[in-house]
Amino acid sequence: METISKEKKAADLPLVTEAEAGRRHLLDEQTMMRMGLMPCKPPVARALVKEGEEILYFDPDKVREAPQGYRYPRQKPQPPKREAPTEPYRLSPRRAATLGYFPRDVLLHMYYEPTEGPVAFYIKKSGERVELFDRATCRRLPLPCTRCGENTRYRAKLCHACYTKELAARRAAGDRRRAAARGMARERVLFFDLEMTGVYDHDEVLSVTVVNGHGETLLDTLTRPQRKKRWRATEKIHGITPDMVKDAPTMAEIAPQLTALFGEADCIVSFGSSTDFFHLARLYRSRAERAALKSKLVDCGTEFAHYIHEHEIELQHLSLSDAMAHFSLPWDGTAHTSAADTNACRLVFEALFPHYYEGEPL
Ligand SMILES: [Zn+2]
Repeated sequence: METISKEKKAADLPLVTEAEAGRRHLLDEQTMMRMGLMPCKPPVARALVKEGEEILYFDPDKVREAPQGYRYPRQKPQPPKREAPTEPYRLSPRRAATLGYFPRDVLLHMYYEPTEGPVAFYIKKSGERVELFDRATCRRLPLPCTRCGENTRYRAKLCHACYTKELAARRAAGDRRRAAARGMARERVLFFDLEMTGVYDHDEVLSVTVVNGHGETLLDTLTRPQRKKRWRATEKIHGITPDMVKDAPTMAEIAPQLTALFGEADCIVSFGSSTDFFHLARLYRSRAERAALKSKLVDCGTEFAHYIHEHEIELQHLSLSDAMAHFSLPWDGTAHTSAADTNACRLVFEALFPHYYEGEPL
């Protein structure tokens, strides 16, 4: 069943000509093998070549360096290698290839350089003897850029020139996007932060703050966990003790207030919203409500990471504190409390998107 569905999938891929695949810089398995790459996503297109053979093409942005000995999906399984005889022995070229033995020029073309003597040979029709070397004992040569194919790789599988060009384009697009006037209404843009008993899904919320684009606090409360009794590790970070929350409302009790606020918002920003979303999603019953919430969430942390990478700023960590320090923004209150973190998130977001509230609504 498995193979049938796989074949069916391959047949659904858009057909391209080899020339078009070349124009789109798509990579086929042969090329990837030569460049030492492996796909991390399924193929995106296929071309039919002679005798009903098919070439699968992969997105060049969805590939990574293949580990030594990586076997490509369509490569035939290799038979177990026999003990290498001391003297090179005669093989057919086809048999040699299945054993991973290749002539020197073929290996160089695949960016391998023989380091040991030949293990086998074959005789061409012309009578010429071709020495074969074991790829497994070869040295890996510097790999070429996946874009231009000429220079040696520098970063992200690209050479320095191609990488610099790509980064400049990405930065220009990012800067344009961040600088755009969005016409968002300040009262409909919300910022929030949660303090938690820990970092796992089973952990619970200890405090919630919601602030709008005017900087007005709409909600700022401690919450009482329903299962957790103590949280010594995170207590040292946010300073919320079990005693402090013993009379606080539970998340379930503030749910109506919180969902009403979120319901009125166009955009809900937090620093690291992927984990927050998991806890907020529990406030909603239906999948549609959760999807509606998710569509409004903006992760300020991800936006900060884009900005830092696009501008090639050397930052080891991309925490909210790092973001505040990077933009030289002042803390109001103690970091790691939900109130201070929510305001910090707002300042960082507004530094990243300086014209968010200006202009006509998009
Ligand atoms: Zn290049």
